[in-house]
Amino acid sequence: MPELDEVKQADSASAAEHPFEVERIRQDFPALTLSVHGQPLVYLDNAASTQKPVSVLDAVDRCYREYYSNVHRGVHHLSQKATDAYEEARRKVQGFVGASRAEEIVFVRGATEGINLVASTFGRSRVKAGDEVLITEMEHHSNIVPWQMLCEQTGATLRVAPIDDRGEVILEEYEKLLNDRTRIAAIVHISNALGTINPVSRMVEMAHSRDVPVLVDGAQAAPHALVDVEALGCDFFVCSGHKMFGPTGIGALYGRWDLLSTMPPYQGGGEMIRSVTFTKTEYAEPPARFEAGTPNIAGAIGMGAAVDYLQGIGLETIGRYELGLLEYATSALSAIPGVRLIGTAAHRASVVSFTIDGAHPHDVGTILDREGIAVRAGHHCAQPVMDHFGVPATVRASLAFYNQRQEIDRLVSGVEKVKEIFN
Ligand code: PMP
Repeated sequence: MPELDEVKQADSASAAEHPFEVERIRQDFPALTLSVHGQPLVYLDNAASTQKPVSVLDAVDRCYREYYSNVHRGVHHLSQKATDAYEEARRKVQGFVGASRAEEIVFVRGATEGINLVASTFGRSRVKAGDEVLITEMEHHSNIVPWQMLCEQTGATLRVAPIDDRGEVILEEYEKLLNDRTRIAAIVHISNALGTINPVSRMVEMAHSRDVPVLVDGAQAAPHALVDVEALGCDFFVCSGHKMFGPTGIGALYGRWDLLSTMPPYQGGGEMIRSVTFTKTEYAEPPARFEAGTPNIAGAIGMGAAVDYLQGIGLETIGRYELGLLEYATSALSAIPGVRLIGTAAHRASVVSFTIDGAHPHDVGTILDREGIAVRAGHHCAQPVMDHFGVPATVRASLAFYNQRQEIDRLVSGVEKVKEIFN
């Protein structure tokens, strides 16, 4: 793993192509200049949602000010301009995730809706009583509950691949759980509670060797790692704009064309039809088939701008820089007596989850907030992970490329303060 100094050198070597200067980058984010309780904000809640660069704010603003209209329906100038921008955003997301065609990208509200869409449409048409759906123990509730609901509706069984005490999926168990009854596997790429990076392409290969399609929950991967759905080999991939420095209320589902094109609709309404009579409705081809009603036009355009922003820096550059920061945070926090790290997988990204002896995570979060430090305290919508580690909650510091070592130092001082209060 590269040290931060090596990262800096590597970054400056490729600087001509992708300059990465954190101080300059921070100036793109108005929220990073905020003060909280009289202290400069240290924003370490990026796994929950990220701050927005000016280019995203401007793209959304320009859409509403300069060419806003409904999409796909109008022959007039504004509608055509809005439609062009909306479809251009789809092509940007296509390029970002490495899909081979823009029609494989469906705009949804976020990762949660993308998973619900697949569970409801692909799931309802392919899963029946006696079948199995395979997930892992480290899933976010968004990648548990929709499958549980599907199983309840169909009589199928939810199977769960266990994790070990470092927070890694036990691959032999995962492989054993794949069988002739498995209809779909749904796995998280990077865990929001533990930071674990799963060996997704290997897990996809294992599933595909049994003809099991795989959905990858990429909510935490898209902002931190280069995603390539073709290289991962997955059949579905979901991500959320708001975790990628884009607007809230927008996200994307990638679906392999041969699967997507055979799936029944998700919601009914305008936009998703080819023709409607009272006796029969013919559905449009994807992606329109899955985008009933007026979509989040400005949100999609803002997500496209976020993709441009991320690609302007370069996901590989981001990943390298964040890894240095993660190493720094991990070693600083683990050196504090009484701090227990939850999630120590060999490959992690951007998340440090921990507990402090004698202090409830919610109290820790509140005390850190008084110091201007935003972290998350709770179960992170991953209660089974908390159960695995025998804790009700953790404190989670989650990083982005705009964070700096001195912010980690402030977190460490905050943790020391918590210890003084509780010991
Ligand atoms: N999966 C993971 C791993 C997540 O971290 C999250 C959000 N915390 C989601 C799914 C759900 O994303 P959203 O709330 O944007 O739909």
